[in-house]
Parts: sequence; structure tokens; C-alpha cells
Amino acid sequence: MKFLPDKFREFRKNYNLSQKEVAALLGISDRAISKWENGLSVPSSEHLVLLAKIFNIKVGDLFDTSDEGYVRESYTRMESVKELYRIGRGPSSSHTIGPEKACRIMRERFPTADLFRITLYGSLAKTGRGHGTDEVIKKTLAPIPCEVKFNLNDTVIPHPNTMDIVALKNGRELSRARVKSVGGGKILFDGERAEEVFSPYAETKFHDIAVYCQEKGIRLWQYVEENEQDDFWDYMQEIWDTMKTSIKRGLNDEGILPGGLGVHKKAKSLYNNQHLDESNQTRENRLVCSYAFAISEQNASGETIVTAPTCGAAGVLPAVLYYQQIKNDFSDRKVLHALATAGVIGNLIKTNASISGAECGCQAEIGTACAMASAALGELFDLHIDKIEYAAEIAIEHHLGLTCDPICGLVQIPCIERNAVAAMRAINAVNLASFLWDTRKISFDRVVETMRETGHDLSPSYRETAEGGLAKITDFR
Ligand code: SF4
Repeated sequence: MKFLPDKFREFRKNYNLSQKEVAALLGISDRAISKWENGLSVPSSEHLVLLAKIFNIKVGDLFDTSDEGYVRESYTRMESVKELYRIGRGPSSSHTIGPEKACRIMRERFPTADLFRITLYGSLAKTGRGHGTDEVIKKTLAPIPCEVKFNLNDTVIPHPNTMDIVALKNGRELSRARVKSVGGGKILFDGERAEEVFSPYAETKFHDIAVYCQEKGIRLWQYVEENEQDDFWDYMQEIWDTMKTSIKRGLNDEGILPGGLGVHKKAKSLYNNQHLDESNQTRENRLVCSYAFAISEQNASGETIVTAPTCGAAGVLPAVLYYQQIKNDFSDRKVLHALATAGVIGNLIKTNASISGAECGCQAEIGTACAMASAALGELFDLHIDKIEYAAEIAIEHHLGLTCDPICGLVQIPCIERNAVAAMRAINAVNLASFLWDTRKISFDRVVETMRETGHDLSPSYRETAEGGLAKITDFR
């Protein structure tokens, strides 16, 4: 929705208030009021709520609600934040977390099975080896043996990521299922109803959420708490515990990542090798990056991680939170509030644009992760909601146009370093926002819309097809 400067001026004049008087009521400069009336900037959500009280109107009265061009397709509700944070094996939600979930369900349904036969089709067959789909399937079903086939011949399949799972006992077939891995770790069993997704959020724009929070005097994590179910904080604790475990495992891991690129795991050496005359800032950089590397390398190794919001971008958010928890002794409860705040940001991007590299390029994965991390830091530091919004906006804005071009389709180059760089950028974004928040001109909602448009303008070569950009490099082995 667009702020209406003329309406604002009209309300002010109806109340016989000068710009100076409104400024004094809000505790800001009269220059700021003049800027609003000239369309040079817009009031923050905090000021909008105060203005609504002063003029005895609703916040929406200051906006053009018929501005259809700005509003994407109508979304009725946003899904639970829990849908964003999923625990599973990397390196790809559709190629590993989805198949992992399907195998776990089949193992639970047929506990007496002594053998599983799995056939992968379409993209799962083409890039399954690179993504380690077969390895994840074997680990999930172990100790029950399984045979995995890559079927490149059958092209008439119901979905690009299709798999058949057959459960056997003493050589006899107990059951078979055709499963589609439809993205984000979600799966559909043929002939069965899709899982119903809990979608509790009525608001689908940051602006609306901010106004609601301001009116009720609550923080973003409390808004999440109001909407989610009773088990939410237990689930988030499990998410945080899993993130910490991934970091610790990654910091103790060494060797070469699977896939054939010969990429060495570097988290451990980054963590342990300090510079001779290391400044505090360099140390912060090295440690945060080592945590981001740790998770990203676990992801690339097919180990357990949390999507935040995806496997490929899983290292950004936990890296900054883990660093802050150790440095400033933040309680787990405080970190969970930060994760919930980040969840709002990720959810808004998922709803209004995309968190998929295949749909909108890496800006949708790493850009979103960076925005989530910026907002999470804002919550840890108790920043005002407007500063949190600005931090997330900066994070997305400076990832606009970022392409997805992983070499050989492996989530290693550029993905691992990119997680570390984005973690540092999140720290930068929240610092900038805390100083400059009252000068911003672009809302979070607007930049998310721009990200979606930019993503759709990107050539398909830059949207997780491993056909363009860095992915064309083949002669470095
Ligand atoms: S380059 Fe592609 S695969 Fe790698 S992190 Fe970015 S979106 Fe994910």
C-alpha cells in the first residue's frame, strides 16, 4: 500500500495543527513532517500508530488501499514459522530432505521390511548423485539394506522429482509407493491427501504486522507466539539445539567434501588459526565465518542441518546467533525469540516472493537468510521494530540480483563462502540500521516485491540449473 501525503496533510489541517505542532507531538523534527507531506519519505510504523491516535483515524486511512499494482496475488494466510525451519540432511531440501522424509515414513509404516528398493526419476536421477540423494536414503533406512537406482530413461513422470519406494520382506513385496518431492522438503505420496499445513497468520505484509505490534505494544516474537500452537517454543528449542550441534560437529570435521570438486573442509582451521596480531574485529569476522562454514560444510557432506530458510543458506542465521550467544551470554530463551523474529522475515519473503534458488536465484536463498539473520540480531539487541525492518530491508536490498550458479550442481562453490559473507553482511546491516533507521526510504515490503520481480527477470541459467555463471567453469580440477 502507498502512503498518501495529501491525506496526511488534510488530516493535519482538519485538526488545525501546524507541521511544527505535529512534530512536537511525535518528538521529531518538523523537517521530517515536511518530507512526509512532499512524498520524500514515509512515517515509520511507530509514527503511523501515533498519527492515527492524534487524528482519531485508522492507520489504513493514510494509505491508498486500491494500489493493486503493489499487492501480489492475494494470499489468504501465512504458514507457521515451523514450516521454515526443518531438520534434515543436506545438501538440498528437495533432493535430500524430501527423500529422507519419504523413506522414514515408509520405514515406520513397514517396520518388518528387510529390504527397500528405491528408484529415482527426473531431476532426482540426473543430479541425485551430486546431491548425495542415494547416500541420504541409505543412511535413513540403515540398518535395513536398500538398493537405489537412477532411472534416466523414463521421462513421463508426474513431477521432476519423483521416486518409487518398494518395501520387501523375505523377497516378497509388502507395499510400494510413488512419492513426489515438491520442494522445501515437502513430499506428496501418490493417492494420499497432501499434509494440511497450519497457516495461522492473517497478516502477509510487514507493514500490517508492524502496525499490529505497535498497537498492541508487543515485539515480533510475541506476535509469533500469539499465532503459533502450544508446542512452538519446544520445537524452536529443538531447532536451536540442532543448529548448535551442526556447528560443533562442523568445527571438528576435516577432510574433503564429497562430489569430486576436491573442496577441503575449512571450518576447523578458520576457527583455530588466529592471526598473530588479531584485532577484535578480525576475530569476530573469523569466528562468525567459521560457524557459517561449519554448518555449510555439514550440509554439503549430507549431514543433519536446519533449513534457514533452505539447506544451501543454512549457515548464515545460526552463525551470527551462536557468536552472539557465546560472546554476550544470551540465554537460549532470548535466542529463540530472535529465531521467531527471523521466522517472520523468512515467512514474509516466502509468501510474497520466494526462498527458492530455482525460482528467484541466490538472492532468494542467501539474501533471505541474511535478512533473517539481520532481524534476529535486531531482536537480540532489543532494537525497535522499525530498526529491525530496516536491517532486514538492507540485507535483501544488497543481495538483489544475486545468481544461483553452483559448480557441478554441488552446494559447495560458491555456496559455502557465500554463507560466511552473508553472515558478516547481516552484522553490517543491523549496525547500519541502528544508526540510520530514520533516514530510510524503501520499506521491507517494497524490496521483497523487487526481489521477486528481479528473480523472475533472471535468465534460467542463473536459477539453480548449473548452466550459467560460475557453473560453466569446468577446468579447475
Ligand atoms: S548458489 Fe544456489 S545452491 Fe548455492 S546457496 Fe545460492 S541458491 Fe543455494
